[in-house]
Amino acid sequence: MILIRTINELKKYLNNKSETIGFVPTMGALHPGHLSLIAASKQTAPFTICSIFVNPTQFNDPADYQQYPITIESDIQQLESAGCDLLFLPSVQEIYPDQTQQPHFALGHLENLLEGAYRPGHFQGVCQVVSRLLQIIQPTWLFLGQKDYQQCMVIAKLIELEGLSTQLTIVPTMREPSGLAMSSRNMRLTEQGRAHATAIYTALKAIKENIKAGPVSDLQTKAIDSLLQAGFSKVDYVSIAHATTLEPVLKWDGQESLVVLAAAFIEGVRLIDNMPLNTSN
Ligand code: AMP
Repeated sequence: MILIRTINELKKYLNNKSETIGFVPTMGALHPGHLSLIAASKQTAPFTICSIFVNPTQFNDPADYQQYPITIESDIQQLESAGCDLLFLPSVQEIYPDQTQQPHFALGHLENLLEGAYRPGHFQGVCQVVSRLLQIIQPTWLFLGQKDYQQCMVIAKLIELEGLSTQLTIVPTMREPSGLAMSSRNMRLTEQGRAHATAIYTALKAIKENIKAGPVSDLQTKAIDSLLQAGFSKVDYVSIAHATTLEPVLKWDGQESLVVLAAAFIEGVRLIDNMPLNTSN
């Protein structure tokens, strides 16, 4: 695997390449969920690039940024074994040479809902880094995890806003055998915390199994109660929403595509998860 740290070097390398590119952006602390994106890219694209960059502009909580796990040696080993062709590992200075001039993206209501409401500015930060990386790498395919469902909708909007031809592929969430969605943040949980955190999957599954046409707020209330009972200290939201706009659905017509999204704290760690409702996955 080729390791490149600067934009100039990466551009020079890519200028001499004719192969189309599959791109997997990450913040490192890699786990099998990330590697499933690499595998998806390798199935489609002749050349796979992964980036590792802990993006400061998407953290609204400085402590969260400071505590973000960094496991670069293990990440490199995992990417090598997964057959990734190139790792782009830029510094903050490289991505944001001028901190004062960041573009603003017209994401509309999508950026104020759910994660956007609890993490103001988060999706602007995500778009700043992804737009920069797409500009530099110009991939034919972009692979994102369904684990960050709202992020996928935001990046689809970014691609539309920028008029890019990059095709977005959303890869299903990889879970532990217990059902807990794999996440770099799980590393900060104790063994007991991880066991209790599976309640988030159980709660989403219960909604998927019990949803029917009509008012849905009881299902949400039950899910929130079950999380608090399982040891979550705070639930930011459990929201049954329209599958693409993510607008909350109070009363389901039995037809429109839905997703349930949740965010909650356990052992001081904020976890998110989601599940499409009226689909087979
Ligand atoms: P992150 O490093 O957390 O920014 O994630 C990088 C990419 O990996 C994003 O597209 C995530 O949605 C994706 N990802 C994270 N966890 C999982 C998972 N459990 N299953 C599938 N994709 C994931």
